[in-house]
Amino acid sequence: MKPQIAVVGSVNVDLVFKTPRMPVPGETLMGHSFQQIHGGKGANQAVAAARMGAAVALIACVGDDVNGQSCLQALGQDHIDLQNVRRTKDCATGVAGILLDDGGENCIVLATGANALLDPSDIGRAASTIAQAKLLLCQLETPLDTVIAAIRSARQAGVKVVLNPAPARPLSDEVFACVDYLVVNETEAALLSGLTTVDLSNANEAAARLQQRGAKVVLITLGALGMWVRSTDDSYCLPARKVEVVDTTAAGDTFVGSLAVAIAEGMELRAACMFAQSAAALAVTKFGAQTSIPYRDEVERFFT
Ligand code: ADP
Repeated sequence: MKPQIAVVGSVNVDLVFKTPRMPVPGETLMGHSFQQIHGGKGANQAVAAARMGAAVALIACVGDDVNGQSCLQALGQDHIDLQNVRRTKDCATGVAGILLDDGGENCIVLATGANALLDPSDIGRAASTIAQAKLLLCQLETPLDTVIAAIRSARQAGVKVVLNPAPARPLSDEVFACVDYLVVNETEAALLSGLTTVDLSNANEAAARLQQRGAKVVLITLGALGMWVRSTDDSYCLPARKVEVVDTTAAGDTFVGSLAVAIAEGMELRAACMFAQSAAALAVTKFGAQTSIPYRDEVERFFT
Protein backbone atom coordinates (compact mmCIF):
# COMPACT_ATOMS: atom_id res chain seq x y z
CA MET A 1 0.00 0.00 0.00
CA LYS A 2 1.31 3.44 -0.94
CA PRO A 3 1.43 5.83 2.03
CA GLN A 4 -0.82 8.90 1.64
CA ILE A 5 0.93 12.25 2.01
CA ALA A 6 -0.82 15.64 2.04
CA VAL A 7 1.33 18.61 1.02
CA VAL A 8 0.29 22.22 1.70
CA GLY A 9 2.50 24.63 -0.20
CA SER A 10 3.57 26.77 -3.12
CA VAL A 11 3.54 26.22 -6.86
CA ASN A 12 5.89 28.39 -8.96
CA VAL A 13 7.40 28.59 -12.38
CA ASP A 14 11.17 29.13 -12.27
CA LEU A 15 12.51 31.38 -15.05
CA VAL A 16 16.22 30.54 -15.05
CA PHE A 17 18.73 32.78 -16.85
CA LYS A 18 22.32 31.54 -17.04
CA THR A 19 24.69 34.52 -17.17
CA PRO A 20 28.48 35.02 -17.28
CA ARG A 21 28.23 37.19 -14.11
CA MET A 22 25.62 39.13 -12.15
CA PRO A 23 24.43 42.38 -13.84
CA VAL A 24 24.88 45.68 -12.00
CA PRO A 25 21.92 48.12 -11.55
CA GLY A 26 20.98 49.75 -14.87
CA GLU A 27 22.95 47.24 -16.96
CA THR A 28 21.60 45.04 -19.78
CA LEU A 29 23.67 41.87 -19.81
CA MET A 30 23.78 39.27 -22.58
CA GLY A 31 22.92 35.90 -20.96
CA HIS A 32 24.05 32.43 -22.01
CA SER A 33 20.65 30.72 -21.97
CA PHE A 34 17.12 30.63 -20.60
CA GLN A 35 15.03 27.75 -19.26
CA GLN A 36 11.56 27.60 -17.76
CA ILE A 37 11.26 24.91 -15.07
CA HIS A 38 8.48 23.93 -12.70
CA GLY A 39 9.28 24.75 -9.08
CA GLY A 40 7.94 26.08 -5.78
CA LYS A 41 8.80 24.34 -2.52
CA GLY A 42 5.35 22.80 -2.10
CA ALA A 43 5.23 21.43 -5.64
CA ASN A 44 8.86 20.24 -5.52
CA GLN A 45 8.33 18.36 -2.25
CA ALA A 46 5.08 16.88 -3.58
CA VAL A 47 6.92 15.69 -6.72
CA ALA A 48 9.76 14.22 -4.63
CA ALA A 49 7.27 12.32 -2.44
CA ALA A 50 5.36 11.07 -5.52
CA ARG A 51 8.58 9.92 -7.25
CA MET A 52 9.52 8.03 -4.06
CA GLY A 53 6.26 6.08 -4.42
CA ALA A 54 3.72 7.85 -2.17
CA ALA A 55 0.14 8.77 -3.07
CA VAL A 56 0.37 12.56 -2.82
CA ALA A 57 -2.40 15.16 -2.55
CA LEU A 58 -1.37 18.81 -3.03
CA ILE A 59 -3.27 21.70 -1.41
CA ALA A 60 -2.27 24.88 -3.23
CA CYS A 61 -3.39 27.89 -5.29
CA VAL A 62 -2.34 28.82 -8.84
CA GLY A 63 -3.44 31.53 -11.26
CA ASP A 64 -5.91 30.92 -14.07
CA ASP A 65 -3.10 31.41 -16.62
CA VAL A 66 -0.70 29.56 -18.90
CA ASN A 67 1.86 29.05 -16.13
CA GLY A 68 -0.76 27.61 -13.79
CA GLN A 69 -1.98 25.27 -16.51
CA SER A 70 1.56 24.10 -17.26
CA CYS A 71 2.36 23.51 -13.55
CA LEU A 72 -0.81 21.45 -13.06
CA GLN A 73 -0.06 19.40 -16.16
CA ALA A 74 3.44 18.60 -14.87
CA LEU A 75 2.13 17.69 -11.40
CA GLY A 76 -0.51 15.49 -13.01
CA GLN A 77 2.23 13.62 -14.89
CA ASP A 78 3.66 12.70 -11.48
CA HIS A 79 0.18 11.38 -10.53
CA ILE A 80 -0.34 14.00 -7.82
CA ASP A 81 -3.95 14.48 -6.68
CA LEU A 82 -4.84 18.08 -7.62
CA GLN A 83 -8.46 18.19 -6.40
CA ASN A 84 -7.45 20.65 -3.68
CA VAL A 85 -5.51 23.00 -5.94
CA ARG A 86 -7.60 26.15 -6.44
CA ARG A 87 -7.29 28.20 -9.65
CA THR A 88 -7.84 31.93 -9.11
CA LYS A 89 -8.53 34.71 -11.62
CA ASP A 90 -7.39 37.28 -9.02
CA CYS A 91 -3.64 36.69 -9.26
CA ALA A 92 -0.95 35.24 -11.53
CA THR A 93 0.71 31.91 -10.77
CA GLY A 94 3.84 32.34 -8.61
CA VAL A 95 7.02 33.05 -10.57
CA ALA A 96 10.67 32.96 -9.51
CA GLY A 97 13.15 34.90 -11.67
CA ILE A 98 16.54 33.22 -11.17
CA LEU A 99 19.96 34.41 -12.35
CA LEU A 100 22.70 31.76 -12.25
CA ASP A 101 26.21 32.97 -13.06
CA ASP A 102 29.35 31.12 -14.17
CA GLY A 103 30.74 31.29 -10.64
CA GLY A 104 27.78 29.31 -9.28
CA GLU A 105 26.22 32.36 -7.57
CA ASN A 106 22.47 32.85 -7.84
CA CYS A 107 20.07 35.78 -7.34
CA ILE A 108 16.34 35.13 -7.06
CA VAL A 109 13.29 37.41 -7.21
CA LEU A 110 10.10 35.69 -6.13
CA ALA A 111 6.68 37.05 -7.19
CA THR A 112 4.59 34.84 -4.92
CA GLY A 113 1.32 35.62 -6.76
CA ALA A 114 -1.49 33.11 -6.23
CA ASN A 115 0.43 31.33 -3.45
CA ALA A 116 -0.41 34.29 -1.20
CA LEU A 117 -4.14 33.62 -1.75
CA LEU A 118 -4.06 30.09 -0.29
CA ASP A 119 -6.09 30.68 2.87
CA PRO A 120 -7.43 28.78 5.89
CA SER A 121 -10.75 28.15 4.09
CA ASP A 122 -8.79 26.11 1.48
CA ILE A 123 -7.54 24.01 4.39
CA GLY A 124 -11.11 23.65 5.69
CA ARG A 125 -12.20 22.30 2.29
CA ALA A 126 -9.26 19.87 2.28
CA ALA A 127 -9.83 18.67 5.88
CA SER A 128 -10.82 15.14 4.88
CA THR A 129 -7.77 14.81 2.60
CA ILE A 130 -5.51 15.84 5.48
CA ALA A 131 -7.31 13.54 7.94
CA GLN A 132 -6.92 10.54 5.62
CA ALA A 133 -3.19 11.13 5.14
CA LYS A 134 -0.46 9.33 7.01
CA LEU A 135 1.53 12.53 7.17
CA LEU A 136 1.20 16.29 6.45
CA LEU A 137 4.08 18.19 4.85
CA CYS A 138 4.29 22.03 4.97
CA GLN A 139 6.76 24.80 4.15
CA LEU A 140 6.44 28.60 4.53
CA GLU A 141 6.01 29.88 0.95
CA THR A 142 2.26 30.19 1.62
CA PRO A 143 0.64 32.42 4.30
CA LEU A 144 1.51 31.46 7.87
CA ASP A 145 -2.12 31.39 9.09
CA THR A 146 -2.87 28.84 6.35
CA VAL A 147 0.07 26.65 7.37
CA ILE A 148 -1.01 26.88 11.02
CA ALA A 149 -4.58 25.90 10.07
CA ALA A 150 -3.21 22.87 8.20
CA ILE A 151 -1.01 21.82 11.12
CA ARG A 152 -3.94 22.13 13.56
CA SER A 153 -6.16 20.13 11.22
CA ALA A 154 -3.55 17.35 11.05
CA ARG A 155 -3.07 17.32 14.84
CA GLN A 156 -6.81 17.01 15.41
CA ALA A 157 -6.91 14.00 13.11
CA GLY A 158 -3.81 12.41 14.68
CA VAL A 159 -1.80 12.87 11.46
CA LYS A 160 1.98 13.32 11.81
CA VAL A 161 3.40 16.74 10.82
CA VAL A 162 6.65 17.42 8.97
CA LEU A 163 7.46 21.15 8.82
CA ASN A 164 10.18 22.63 6.63
CA PRO A 165 10.05 26.30 7.77
CA ALA A 166 11.51 27.73 4.56
CA PRO A 167 11.93 30.56 3.78
CA ALA A 168 12.74 31.14 7.45
CA ARG A 169 10.55 33.41 9.53
CA PRO A 170 9.84 33.60 13.25
CA LEU A 171 7.37 31.00 14.58
CA SER A 172 5.56 30.72 17.90
CA ASP A 173 6.20 27.87 20.34
CA GLU A 174 2.60 26.78 19.72
CA VAL A 175 3.58 25.88 16.15
CA PHE A 176 6.73 24.03 17.27
CA ALA A 177 4.68 22.00 19.75
CA CYS A 178 2.59 20.60 16.86
CA VAL A 179 5.60 19.51 14.78
CA ASP A 180 6.74 15.88 14.80
CA TYR A 181 9.68 16.39 12.41
CA LEU A 182 11.26 19.83 11.91
CA VAL A 183 13.61 19.98 8.90
CA VAL A 184 15.78 23.12 8.64
CA ASN A 185 18.94 24.16 6.80
CA GLU A 186 21.69 26.19 8.49
CA THR A 187 20.00 29.56 7.81
CA GLU A 188 16.60 28.47 9.09
CA ALA A 189 18.19 26.76 12.11
CA ALA A 190 20.02 29.99 13.04
CA LEU A 191 16.95 32.21 12.74
CA LEU A 192 14.69 29.87 14.71
CA SER A 193 17.21 28.91 17.42
CA GLY A 194 18.49 32.46 18.02
CA LEU A 195 22.12 31.47 17.29
CA THR A 196 24.08 33.84 15.01
CA THR A 197 25.21 31.07 12.68
CA VAL A 198 24.77 27.30 12.64
CA ASP A 199 27.33 24.83 11.28
CA LEU A 200 28.58 21.36 12.15
CA SER A 201 30.28 22.65 15.34
CA ASN A 202 27.07 23.90 16.98
CA ALA A 203 24.33 22.00 15.13
CA ASN A 204 23.61 19.90 18.22
CA GLU A 205 23.09 23.03 20.32
CA ALA A 206 20.80 24.53 17.66
CA ALA A 207 18.82 21.27 17.45
CA ALA A 208 18.51 21.13 21.24
CA ARG A 209 17.16 24.69 21.30
CA LEU A 210 14.59 23.85 18.61
CA GLN A 211 13.59 20.76 20.57
CA GLN A 212 13.17 22.88 23.72
CA ARG A 213 10.76 25.05 21.73
CA GLY A 214 8.61 21.93 21.21
CA ALA A 215 9.65 20.11 18.00
CA LYS A 216 9.94 16.36 18.66
CA VAL A 217 12.60 15.41 16.10
CA VAL A 218 14.93 18.07 14.65
CA LEU A 219 16.87 17.51 11.43
CA ILE A 220 19.37 20.16 10.35
CA THR A 221 20.63 19.81 6.78
CA LEU A 222 24.18 21.05 6.22
CA GLY A 223 24.59 20.93 2.42
CA ALA A 224 27.59 18.90 1.23
CA LEU A 225 28.49 18.14 4.87
CA GLY A 226 25.29 16.14 5.40
CA MET A 227 22.99 16.63 8.36
CA TRP A 228 22.48 16.65 12.11
CA VAL A 229 19.79 14.40 13.59
CA ARG A 230 18.33 14.99 17.06
CA SER A 231 15.53 12.71 18.20
CA THR A 232 14.08 12.37 21.71
CA ASP A 233 16.83 9.98 22.81
CA ASP A 234 19.70 10.35 20.34
CA SER A 235 21.81 13.00 18.59
CA TYR A 236 24.27 12.37 15.75
CA CYS A 237 25.73 13.55 12.45
CA LEU A 238 25.17 11.75 9.14
CA PRO A 239 27.59 12.63 6.32
CA ALA A 240 26.23 13.47 2.84
CA ARG A 241 26.70 11.13 -0.13
CA LYS A 242 29.66 12.15 -2.30
CA VAL A 243 28.56 13.22 -5.78
CA GLU A 244 29.61 15.49 -8.65
CA VAL A 245 27.74 18.76 -8.10
CA VAL A 246 25.87 20.23 -11.08
CA ASP A 247 23.17 22.36 -9.37
CA THR A 248 22.02 22.24 -5.75
CA THR A 249 18.53 23.65 -6.55
CA ALA A 250 15.84 21.46 -4.93
CA ALA A 251 18.34 19.42 -2.85
CA GLY A 252 16.48 20.46 0.29
CA ASP A 253 13.06 19.84 -1.28
CA THR A 254 14.10 16.40 -2.51
CA PHE A 255 15.42 15.61 0.97
CA VAL A 256 12.18 16.67 2.68
CA GLY A 257 9.81 14.92 0.24
CA SER A 258 11.81 11.68 0.35
CA LEU A 259 12.14 11.78 4.13
CA ALA A 260 8.37 12.16 4.46
CA VAL A 261 7.80 9.00 2.41
CA ALA A 262 10.39 7.00 4.34
CA ILE A 263 8.81 8.05 7.66
CA ALA A 264 5.29 7.33 6.40
CA GLU A 265 6.45 3.86 5.38
CA GLY A 266 7.69 3.28 8.93
CA MET A 267 11.42 3.32 8.17
CA GLU A 268 13.62 3.79 11.24
CA LEU A 269 14.82 7.42 11.59
CA ARG A 270 18.50 6.86 10.73
CA ALA A 271 17.64 4.79 7.66
CA ALA A 272 14.98 7.34 6.60
CA CYS A 273 17.56 10.14 6.79
CA MET A 274 20.12 8.14 4.81
CA PHE A 275 17.51 7.34 2.15
CA ALA A 276 16.53 11.04 1.92
CA GLN A 277 20.20 12.10 1.71
CA SER A 278 20.75 9.66 -1.16
CA ALA A 279 17.76 11.13 -3.02
CA ALA A 280 18.99 14.71 -2.36
CA ALA A 281 22.53 13.85 -3.51
CA LEU A 282 21.14 12.52 -6.81
CA ALA A 283 19.16 15.79 -7.24
CA VAL A 284 22.44 17.72 -6.92
CA THR A 285 23.87 15.86 -9.94
CA LYS A 286 21.23 17.37 -12.29
CA PHE A 287 20.17 20.88 -13.31
CA GLY A 288 16.94 22.58 -12.16
CA ALA A 289 14.16 21.98 -9.64
CA GLN A 290 11.60 19.33 -10.68
CA THR A 291 13.88 18.28 -13.55
CA SER A 292 16.48 17.06 -11.04
CA ILE A 293 14.31 15.09 -8.59
CA PRO A 294 15.11 11.36 -8.91
CA TYR A 295 12.73 8.36 -8.94
CA ARG A 296 12.59 5.66 -6.26
CA ASP A 297 14.38 2.99 -8.30
CA GLU A 298 17.36 5.31 -8.94
CA VAL A 299 17.57 6.11 -5.23
CA GLU A 300 17.36 2.46 -4.22
CA ARG A 301 20.14 1.52 -6.63
CA PHE A 302 22.27 4.35 -5.20
CA PHE A 303 21.24 3.67 -1.58
CA THR A 304 22.31 0.02 -1.47
P1 ADP B 1 18.75 23.55 1.27
O1 ADP B 1 18.71 23.34 -0.22
O2 ADP B 1 17.39 23.58 1.91
O3 ADP B 1 19.65 24.66 1.73
P2 ADP B 1 20.89 21.69 1.94
O4 ADP B 1 21.80 22.47 1.03
O5 ADP B 1 21.29 21.60 3.37
O6 ADP B 1 19.38 22.18 1.85
O7 ADP B 1 20.78 20.23 1.30
C1 ADP B 1 19.87 19.26 1.77
C2 ADP B 1 20.53 17.90 1.70
O8 ADP B 1 20.92 17.66 0.33
C3 ADP B 1 21.82 17.78 2.50
O9 ADP B 1 21.55 17.38 3.84
C4 ADP B 1 22.57 16.71 1.72
O10 ADP B 1 22.14 15.42 2.10
C5 ADP B 1 22.14 16.96 0.29
N1 ADP B 1 23.14 17.80 -0.40
C6 ADP B 1 23.13 19.14 -0.57
N2 ADP B 1 24.25 19.55 -1.22
C7 ADP B 1 24.97 18.42 -1.46
C8 ADP B 1 26.24 18.16 -2.10
N3 ADP B 1 26.98 19.16 -2.62
N4 ADP B 1 26.66 16.88 -2.15
C9 ADP B 1 25.92 15.86 -1.64
N5 ADP B 1 24.73 16.04 -1.03
C10 ADP B 1 24.27 17.31 -0.93
